[in-house]
Amino acid sequence: MIGLGIETSCDETSIAFVEDGKKILSNVVYSQIEEHNKFYGIVPEIASRSHLIKINEVYEKALEESKLSPKDIDYIAVTVQPGLIGSLLIGGQFAKTFCILYKKPIIDINHLEAHFYANFLERKEEPNYPFLGLLLSGGNTAIYVVEGLGKLKILANTQDDAIGEAFDKVASILELGYPGGPIIEKKSKEYSNTTNSLFPKILKDLPENQISFSFSGIKTSLLYYVRKNQSKLDIPYICYEFQETCFELVLRMLKRAIQITNIKTVEAGGGVLANQRLRELLDELAKKTHTKIYYPKNKILCTDNAAMVATLGYYYYINHYTTDLNFVPSSKIINSYSKFDS
Ligand code: AMP
Ligand code: MG
Repeated sequence: MIGLGIETSCDETSIAFVEDGKKILSNVVYSQIEEHNKFYGIVPEIASRSHLIKINEVYEKALEESKLSPKDIDYIAVTVQPGLIGSLLIGGQFAKTFCILYKKPIIDINHLEAHFYANFLERKEEPNYPFLGLLLSGGNTAIYVVEGLGKLKILANTQDDAIGEAFDKVASILELGYPGGPIIEKKSKEYSNTTNSLFPKILKDLPENQISFSFSGIKTSLLYYVRKNQSKLDIPYICYEFQETCFELVLRMLKRAIQITNIKTVEAGGGVLANQRLRELLDELAKKTHTKIYYPKNKILCTDNAAMVATLGYYYYINHYTTDLNFVPSSKIINSYSKFDS
């Protein structure tokens, strides 16, 4: 079964061909980072224009790498939400055109759900429901109970910034560049001492039976620290402390989610999972709590990519779910849904 995946929700134009939801035949990602980094963030108009310019080229490259022809495709899976509306429309229109040209079934994908399915690429196991979905990206920070295919219930969300967004904003405060995550990780590695924490523990008074995230307080605290100590800033130290404080919260909340739900499988996804230190901490937590915690095999599969969209599409397709050409891309984040009930 061959799936064509299309992903244009934010600042990556991606097309992939995936076999049986498992084997990546090609997964081409064009990242617009260079086009946005001078603005320290994503400019929506630039993003949608760039998708429009690049999408055919990305498709041609993916098709060539896969050594397939369009008639070999069994289904099309396209991200329709959430994301930047102008960006989503480009992928959506590409999918509709393809569908009309080649008469292939189409599946509308919520790319937040797709992040968890990135973990099933090149992995033998099938999804084992229910699992906890930990999403740590530039736009989202949440824990879901994934009860089944297309069946998500949100357990915890951020009260303000997403974690990746906080990394990006902090890198901007420190004038380190964009995106902030990889730069902050690299700088943190240059710091080798351990000292008293520079930042207070986040949500330290949150009752034990509650799960939540918040990253705007630490960002403000860091901003004031930088203003006060302008002449003697130890950048690796600040990055290290910032990273440790953010990840301490993630680990504390994930541990609570495991305890409260007693669900022993976690599928983690999103750009922040590219962070090596976070991966180590998750491995430690998995051992301590006798839980299986999975994250994507490589950096490409952490951030937005079309292979994960094709994989989730595969599971929908074999469960006889398809949509028609009237689907409407939407920027809206729907936190809990049950696709087969509606
Ligand atoms: P996504 O929104 O899933 O496409 O992921 C992009 C986000 O992941 C951005 O906010 C990045 O700063 C963040 N990110 C990427 N690599 C890392 C890393 N190594 N450590 C922390 N955050 C990262
Ligand atoms: Mg994403």
